[in-house]
Amino acid sequence: MELIFERSVKGRKGLRLPKCDVPSAKDIPARYKRKGIADLPEVSELDVVRHFTRLSRMNFSIDTHFYPLGSCTMKYNPKFMEDIAKLPGFSQLHPLLPQLLLGGMLTQGALEVLYNLERLLAELTGMHEVTTEPMAGAHGELTGMMLVAAYHRDRGNQKRYIIIPDSSHGTNPASATIAGYQTISIPTDKNGVMDFNQYKNKLNSEVAAVMLTCPNTVGIFNSQIRQICSLAHQNDALVYYDGANLNAILGKVRPGDIGFDIVHLNLHKTFATPHGGGGPGSGPVGVRKDLARFLPVPKVVKRSDGTYALEENWPESIGRIASFYGNFDVLLKAYAYILLLGKDGLIEASEKAVLNANYIMAGLKKYYHLPYDRICMHECVFSAAKQLEKGVHALDIAKALIDKGFHPPTIYFPLIVKEALMIEPTETESKDTLDRFIEAMKEIAELSQTNPQAVKDTPLTTPVSRPDETKAGRELNLRWNP
Ligand SMILES: *Cc1c(COP(=O)(O)O)cnc(C)c1O
Repeated sequence: MELIFERSVKGRKGLRLPKCDVPSAKDIPARYKRKGIADLPEVSELDVVRHFTRLSRMNFSIDTHFYPLGSCTMKYNPKFMEDIAKLPGFSQLHPLLPQLLLGGMLTQGALEVLYNLERLLAELTGMHEVTTEPMAGAHGELTGMMLVAAYHRDRGNQKRYIIIPDSSHGTNPASATIAGYQTISIPTDKNGVMDFNQYKNKLNSEVAAVMLTCPNTVGIFNSQIRQICSLAHQNDALVYYDGANLNAILGKVRPGDIGFDIVHLNLHKTFATPHGGGGPGSGPVGVRKDLARFLPVPKVVKRSDGTYALEENWPESIGRIASFYGNFDVLLKAYAYILLLGKDGLIEASEKAVLNANYIMAGLKKYYHLPYDRICMHECVFSAAKQLEKGVHALDIAKALIDKGFHPPTIYFPLIVKEALMIEPTETESKDTLDRFIEAMKEIAELSQTNPQAVKDTPLTTPVSRPDETKAGRELNLRWNP
């Protein structure tokens, strides 16, 4: 692949510096000065535009392709939210700006956004208070587990375990472990939910919390969820809601009303802020009333005179869990998204997300094995078991989809489904797109029977066919060496 450095032609320039808007420094000590000139590529503006546009077209994105990556909720991100995030009053705000400068005139708007967003997320989840500080879902989980620990420490409880079903996202046991707990894994029953009897048997006075995703990662809502919560509470264990799948129930069911005590949300999933490529994300955490005193600082508060402030002085807080106040631009976009859709829009989004997933499930049932054959929520999980009889794996099906112009679904997750294909269409896709996807999956299923090798030879349309993903991970090399 050609690099921008290789396009360099001595003397070629595409540079126009803006007028300096700060006083230029005069006496910079010699030790801070660079010797010689920086070794930068010499290219024209057009060279740069073509280079990066070409690179961007080698990739898949939600703006170019259907992206049914299960569990990740890759919905369309309305451009309206970018307009809001671009407003100079937000985008040029420095996080170290003193709160009271010019009577707080510069920061009040941003603090109001944080405050209002926290109130909206509390309302949507049925929680008492929310922190917007965590930077991702996994960070929210860790924050939640630290809150669990703070709760039990406060009560003098000796607790050691977190119960987690085996369908959970890998970050759940990881977060519990980092917070100092051991995990107890509960198997999934034949209906696709946590085995209730095994849960009852494993629950004891040393269990600190139960960590659940509902609907879970096979897209099924657990109808025993209230009983699960009340049994936990009888043992003074808290119940944690992994909100990555909130898109299925938004405006329909609130985790707080079911009996959950702590909730994290993935704003970059449910609330449509862009994600992929590792960030930025946002994983706000909501808690029931008696846990609010443990939330991280600073807290955004509204004073009696109607102004907003960041408060550090909460002695029982678990402390700071991030620099500054979370990923503000992501929070701002999520706030804009919620206001854009409004109550009815959010409910409709959820309904369509569920309808779309069931439409795909019904369309593909004949061609792919469906381990849990029941109405699903926002995503459906197939297995490539039938195709495997011909030697075609879930990975091969994913690669074949790329040639047909679709981003692959999540594969090999959840771990409880062999050769899993986890499809989450989201609400923003039209029936035409869903039909084209179903047709493509059908063709791949048929080709797997008639000419399995042809499926295994895909993709043929990408710059690199099948990279060695293990080697790429272990020997990551991002440096250009002339
Ligand atoms: C995405 C996801 C997480 C982790 O969230 P991140 O924002 O990626 O850290 C946790 N649980 C489930 C079910 C998820 O889908």
